[in-house]
Amino acid sequence: MSTENSYQFKASTSKVLQIITHSLYQNSEVYLRELISNASDALNKVRIKQLQSENILDPAAPLEIRLIADKERNTLTVSDTGIGMTKSELQENLGTIAQSGTEQFLQALDEGGDATELIGMFGVGFYSAFLVASKVEVITRGVSPQSKAWKWSSDGEDSFTIEPAEKESRGTDIILHLKEEDEKYLNNWELRTLVRRYSNYIQFPIKAKKTDPKEDEDEWETLNDQVALWRKNPKEVTEEEYEGFFRSLSMGGTPLATIHLRVETPIEFYAIIYIPRFKTQNFMAQQDEWGLNIYNRKVLINESNKEMLPEWARFVVGVVDGENLKLNVSREVLQENSTKRAIQKHLAKKILDKLEEMADEFGKEITVESEEEDGEPETRTNEDYMDFWREFGPFLKEGIAQDSQYKDRLTELLRFDSTAEEGKLGGRSLTDYVINMKPDQDKIYYLTGLELDMLKKSPHLEYYKKEGVEVLLLGEPIDSFLMMHLNEYQEKPFFLIDEEETEEEEEKSEETEDEEDDSPKEKTGPLAPLLTRAVTVLGTKVSDVKTSERLVGAVASLVTPKGGMNSNLQRAMRIMQAQQGGAGLGNMGMMGKVLTLNPNHELVQRLNSLVENTPEDERIDMMILQIHDQARILEGDVPDFAEMLSRMENIMKFAVDE
Ligand code: ADP
Repeated sequence: MSTENSYQFKASTSKVLQIITHSLYQNSEVYLRELISNASDALNKVRIKQLQSENILDPAAPLEIRLIADKERNTLTVSDTGIGMTKSELQENLGTIAQSGTEQFLQALDEGGDATELIGMFGVGFYSAFLVASKVEVITRGVSPQSKAWKWSSDGEDSFTIEPAEKESRGTDIILHLKEEDEKYLNNWELRTLVRRYSNYIQFPIKAKKTDPKEDEDEWETLNDQVALWRKNPKEVTEEEYEGFFRSLSMGGTPLATIHLRVETPIEFYAIIYIPRFKTQNFMAQQDEWGLNIYNRKVLINESNKEMLPEWARFVVGVVDGENLKLNVSREVLQENSTKRAIQKHLAKKILDKLEEMADEFGKEITVESEEEDGEPETRTNEDYMDFWREFGPFLKEGIAQDSQYKDRLTELLRFDSTAEEGKLGGRSLTDYVINMKPDQDKIYYLTGLELDMLKKSPHLEYYKKEGVEVLLLGEPIDSFLMMHLNEYQEKPFFLIDEEETEEEEEKSEETEDEEDDSPKEKTGPLAPLLTRAVTVLGTKVSDVKTSERLVGAVASLVTPKGGMNSNLQRAMRIMQAQQGGAGLGNMGMMGKVLTLNPNHELVQRLNSLVENTPEDERIDMMILQIHDQARILEGDVPDFAEMLSRMENIMKFAVDE
């Protein structure tokens, strides 16, 4: 049905056109990115011809892209001085879509691909013009000096026309007759926003007329930065440039560390990854607003992309740019995954390298430029790693718990508070701990809890302090999860010190014999009256009441019996329950613990005499319950406060009466 200059779109082309206009309308702004990318490709081709010193039309014309908004005619023109098209090229390029491309595009969409990303990949980018235009005209003139100008025109339904046109200069003008609802694209500010968002690093200037030119009507301004920092040689990038780019990604501040990569094999890609000093605003506001900006040949294709970072590394910000990333990323699912996985692995390795380097440099003297102009350089201690650790340590811990692939390297990066002098500021590594172990020590002792200050006062520490054995203190909620995944380090098992220790059990071997029997045993020894009474009063609140020589200053403490439910697990369950809005922390106490009493403590001894001499004294049960509640508090557990307060008042009344 073609007339001399009117042509039908191929069936497959119409189909893609339909899909694009119907499925992409919410994201119609990508049209500008696609048209600018095409213009940039066309300019690149001219540059190659110039390099090969071919004879071309308009050799002196500047290589640039102009956006021309005509508010009277409601048109936006994307104009380039690129390679242009001949008549047959127009017919070929803008009338058909390579069959293979169409099929792949449709298939990728079918498989749930993101149309916004896919559109530029399969030679269908030009058609996105119809997202915002009811009619598109293309006036183009080829690069050869003898070339003629042609006009292609279509309303995006099923046909297009080609006719001779007038055009003085080389290149292509894409004239968009904007739909009513898309007239906002005549607004200079809107155009600038889109250019900076998607096309900021296109290497040719993208110009628009100044909204308010002072004298000269034709004053043009360049909207894009052009230089993609990540593509430059790292040696040529200044600190200011890195910091400036960091600010553009993260809304302010300076980064703690910068990783600049240019990788050639097996996949060519460029990246700048920053380790920030603080969690970014995005991060705080929305948990899933993390990820990298992915570019293909300097054009943004995806923001907050999560596929190229392991989840634990979500504190970083940065960009990845590839030569052929888009094609690889979607041509085929298998290939796609392997590309992403390869990049993710590479980035994870570099992030770990950088963190290890920072950890090594920690505490060393460094010379920095003076804050004041012309001031002498100053020396200070490098504290970057601990700054990092305090802000982002929990992410690494999460990595150990969730990603076995990086577990070993992440474990080396852990830092702890501990009872050793050097562990007071929280910078103790496991290597340090092992070096500091006593000659006959075979375990790594640690204590978990919900608050560091409470942990430091824990009665469990008393024995180890007395013996001069270092104990690691882990006071963050995530630590209970972490320690469920760390079993040993350098073949030394971790040991949670609120558990009864094995040796102790072995010594009292006659006790272990009837371990099967859960019920508390017949009490013997001088404190038997108190122990028996406490077992009765506390009932199911504890699994047993015993004395312990391990306590030094404390009255009592709660320990996990051998084979009892590990406190990490109990705490983790409670944290998860609370997060899911389930029962509050108070409703589910630490279960199955043994209450141990300090046989050398005056309160314990006097309470025992009371039981022996005046068992009917009502203070006895009150005090046993109170001692138990206080031990729970020291474990980070939450007793029933109302009950505890009224009991306290009663105890105080007795104290006043005496
Ligand atoms: P792709 O750019 O992915 O090949 P498009 O549908 O965007 O797919 O464009 C189809 C073809 O049309 C391009 O490959 C190019 O040959 C030609 N083309 C599009 N825009 C221009 C332009 N501004 N200058 C010269 N050629 C162009």
